[in-house]
Amino acid sequence: MELVLLFSSCGGLYFYRMGMELQRKTVSTGLKKLINRFPGALLFEIDRITAMYPERITPYYAELIQECGDPLWKQAVPDSAELEHAGLREDPLEEEGFSPIPGVVHRYPDRVLFLVSDICPVYCRFCTRKRRIGQARSREQLLLDREAGLQYISRTRSIRDVLLSGGDPLMLPEPELLPLLDRLFAIDRLDLVRIGTRALCTAPGLVTPELAQKLGRYRSLYINTHFNHSAELTPEAGDAAALLAEVGLPLSSQTVLLAGVNDDVELLERLFRGLLRMRVRPYYLHIMDLTQGTAHFRLPLVRVVSIYKELQRHLSGMALPRLMLDIPGGGGKISLDPGGVPEPVEGGWAVTAYSGERYFYPEVPGG
Ligand code: SF4
Repeated sequence: MELVLLFSSCGGLYFYRMGMELQRKTVSTGLKKLINRFPGALLFEIDRITAMYPERITPYYAELIQECGDPLWKQAVPDSAELEHAGLREDPLEEEGFSPIPGVVHRYPDRVLFLVSDICPVYCRFCTRKRRIGQARSREQLLLDREAGLQYISRTRSIRDVLLSGGDPLMLPEPELLPLLDRLFAIDRLDLVRIGTRALCTAPGLVTPELAQKLGRYRSLYINTHFNHSAELTPEAGDAAALLAEVGLPLSSQTVLLAGVNDDVELLERLFRGLLRMRVRPYYLHIMDLTQGTAHFRLPLVRVVSIYKELQRHLSGMALPRLMLDIPGGGGKISLDPGGVPEPVEGGWAVTAYSGERYFYPEVPGG
């Protein structure tokens, strides 16, 4: 097979197998679209990367990419940097170790992560669960695991909160998703069920008026979505959010802080303010997990803290997500609020205001 070495406009080196790439059955429609739009930017070692970490891009998301190597491209298009494992682990959060049965992660007593699907509209290159996303279980196995998961949740009395994830639960056909929700809401002990979905961002067409109406009937269903860049806040995404908000579903969004994608205060401000305008509450700002194949997205912690401190100065509590670290090794999530820790001083505490000025907060006498 003939190989041609190209210098791409992204600055990387790519090998293009002459006449072959467009015929590859494994290339998603969205990636084909990108190959056609940016013919000089084909992928180095795509077979090796996608053998480990599958690729999938919706035509919708591919259309949002403005140039080769831009922040949306980096999130969706396989990169040879994924082959550099840099000593990182496939499962840094020990999800498998906290799985009493396949497809259920039970780390905190009152909550479970219920992995009900293995597929997503776009396979994000930074995904914490990239070890399993797109590596679909057989349909029989998935159904067996889902049934076992429902039974586990039903018999485990400490569970009050179920986060459906995977994969993306909105990839399930309605005849699977709705009965699953029916079964969960039949468990009276549950306070809430959350759908973790990036579909609003990567495939907003999945949220139809009919689906929104049906989801709106559940008593305490929450939608946790995921946007990383203000360019993802399109009219289509806004329409999908509006459909869900109008039937009364509370919407929140998490963001992952990614080097070369959104490590910029002004951009994050635009993103969080734009989410609020779509009735989506910014919820968590995640520090990158130490997941194998994602080291190129990491930022030094000192940079993370400096970005967050700037955001604290500019954004109201409604717009400011909590800065979250998921402790490697399975310690669970903790909130890192760099401005929020008071220092003990004589008779009270020194606290730092949003402006950077320090104030005195007196302690209860004798307290
Ligand atoms: S949508 Fe979520 S689960 Fe799916 S690949 Fe992206 S980050 Fe991972």
